[in-house]
Amino acid sequence: VVGTIPEVDSSRIEGILDLLREGGGRVTTATRAVVQVLAAADGHLTAADIAQAVRQKHPDIHDSTVYRVLDRLAELGVVTHAHLGARPAVYHITNEHHDHLVCESCGTVVDVPPGVMQPVARRVARDYGFELALGHFALGGRCVRCIAGAGAG
Ligand SMILES: [Zn+2]
Ligand SMILES: [Zn+2]
Ligand SMILES: [Zn+2]
Repeated sequence: VVGTIPEVDSSRIEGILDLLREGGGRVTTATRAVVQVLAAADGHLTAADIAQAVRQKHPDIHDSTVYRVLDRLAELGVVTHAHLGARPAVYHITNEHHDHLVCESCGTVVDVPPGVMQPVARRVARDYGFELALGHFALGGRCVRCIAGAGAG
């Protein structure tokens, strides 16, 4: 459920919009609204969530516009998406990227800084010649609470 959009440090928003401008992108009202929502949300919103949050502040911006803006931001490398289990993809600001663990029992998502998985990625690259896209799909498993719950009963 998407609540009201919290206020976000505007210099952070401007930094993200600067990346967009450097990539040749135009900053429209819809673009700014999408970036604002993404920056406020810690990156676990689906395209539909983002469209809904944008609509709260800008009822005139259609969902299709939001989806186009997201595609454009992805093309320019400002935004990436991740798959957390069977749910629709969620979006992140690229330079705030991280990897994900998702609990297969309760769906809890744990954010992991990229450095944690780097030794694994390096080993796989060295031994198998395969470049892992770690951030793209979450790693499945069981969260600490579900492990504890399984022990109790
Ligand atoms: Zn769990
Ligand atoms: Zn995340
Ligand atoms: Zn994907």
